[in-house]
Amino acid sequence: SKTAAAFGIDEALKQLGLQETNHGTSTGSENFGSGDIISSFSPVDGALIGKIKTTSPADYEKVMAAATSAFKEWRMVPAPQRGEIVRQFGDRLRELKEPLGKLVSYEMGKSYQEGLGEVQEMIDICDFAVGLSRQLHGLTMHSERPGHRMYEQYHPLGVVGIISAFNFPVAVWAWNTALAWVCGDVCVWKPSEKTPLCGIACQNIIAEVLKKNNLPEGISCLINGDYKVGELMTQDKRIPLVSATGSIRMGKIVAQAVAARLGKSLLELGGNNAIIVSPDADIKMTVIGAVFGAVGTAGQRCTSTRRLIVHESVYDKVKDAITEAYKQLKIGNPLDQSNHVGPLIDTDAVKMYLSALEKAKKEGGNILVEGGVLEGGGYASGCYVKPAIVEAQNSFKIVQEETFAPILYLLKYSGGVENAIEQQNGVVQGLSSAIMTNSLREAEHFLSAAGSDCGIANVNIGTSGAEIGGAFGGEKETGGGRESGSDAWKVYMRRQTNTINYTTKLPLAQGIKFDL
Ligand code: NAD
Repeated sequence: SKTAAAFGIDEALKQLGLQETNHGTSTGSENFGSGDIISSFSPVDGALIGKIKTTSPADYEKVMAAATSAFKEWRMVPAPQRGEIVRQFGDRLRELKEPLGKLVSYEMGKSYQEGLGEVQEMIDICDFAVGLSRQLHGLTMHSERPGHRMYEQYHPLGVVGIISAFNFPVAVWAWNTALAWVCGDVCVWKPSEKTPLCGIACQNIIAEVLKKNNLPEGISCLINGDYKVGELMTQDKRIPLVSATGSIRMGKIVAQAVAARLGKSLLELGGNNAIIVSPDADIKMTVIGAVFGAVGTAGQRCTSTRRLIVHESVYDKVKDAITEAYKQLKIGNPLDQSNHVGPLIDTDAVKMYLSALEKAKKEGGNILVEGGVLEGGGYASGCYVKPAIVEAQNSFKIVQEETFAPILYLLKYSGGVENAIEQQNGVVQGLSSAIMTNSLREAEHFLSAAGSDCGIANVNIGTSGAEIGGAFGGEKETGGGRESGSDAWKVYMRRQTNTINYTTKLPLAQGIKFDL
């Protein structure tokens, strides 16, 4: 297409080893696939980027055979040597940052800057994982029995299944794999059927690194297709851990399927994130944080700001400032860096956005900044919408839901910060939250046990844009999983408690006597 030519997309596809028709299944050295064909269209200009042959059940069996056999070797490679492979992978990502960032932008529709940012997150988690590979510590304990030593160690878990969402088509995989690999696991990834080329590009990069190091097939595997291909993993007893990122609807199905076979699941599901704006807030900072949070990635981040809970004393001031800021927003091709807002992922997402605005109106919402679909030159994909602001009540049914689009609900509170926290916590999701305040009392209250009930709680920062060093995830219907930094690695390993007796007697615990 014209856009692809103007922004060097064809060259990027070539550098990433992508063709017109791609095999969507891989165990490393070869790509194959005999399932149905899916086509990947760009939301940027509506053009066909490529076709993918998805994974059939027989292809899947081939993948699982390679993965289970690779695990037997990989688990015995010392962790720092596994870290060395992740280091090399990070280096390749540094070299391919531009083409991969471009592909993310073109296939998913986020801005080129955000595409590059996503690849940077992959690089960052690789660096983190390399250090971690020398620090997979367990504890030592004092035994109650004389001449005994007791300690715990972490062992690799096995084959980790990764199911990811369209909105972070490359980073979520890396958050999981970089840690899982240094932990000694092998990974099978099913990317979103809306961004399959990003998946193939990533697999090509790691496959090359593994091959160069003469490592076995199957340490990194790729499968492609819709939920039916995902179900092959959730029902597969050979997969001890399924890490699934996506909607709450999906998470509830996946959690039940995995629990039915007593497997482990790591769930990273939807959010309904709010910023509380207190009477003491810095209004300028608030506006920048809220606008970026609400319209960045066209409102398609799990941490996007959906609700602004503003104290009545500053309500009009905030309302005017944010309405004014929305007038400056430029909507258009995300590869063109002068635009602030790109497209939604597809026309189904546009329908959901329009329906949410209708519902908000029906429930009594007041449209402050009008939404709508953009038409004409540059908007031919039909996926570009105007960011909207609606004055609403937290109790509205639509406000309680996560609509994956740039709609910001403006809510009011009066009295103390506890009233704002009650609204902020008054939804089923529990991912990210923030307070804008210069009051120490309010900030500490917000972070206390009686404060935000989310996995992420920020002070004087918006809700989106987490760093990889902290554990990432949320409570309640967000699923409870934690990925990325801190001690999130522990979920990818199994813990073993070891007791060693170095005497010639066999004393029993709890003082029990058993003489023969
Ligand atoms: P989605 O739920 O439609 O799909 C996510 C993935 O799950 C896809 O790969 C899909 O094929 C797969 N899937 C769907 N049903 C399945 C089933 N029954 N069994 C196995 N696999 C199944 O989500 P989406 O539209 O791609 O992404 C948007 C959602 O993801 C939003 O709700 C967003 O908040 C959430 N998300 C959460 C995080 C987080 O870290 N908490 C990060 C990114 C996105």
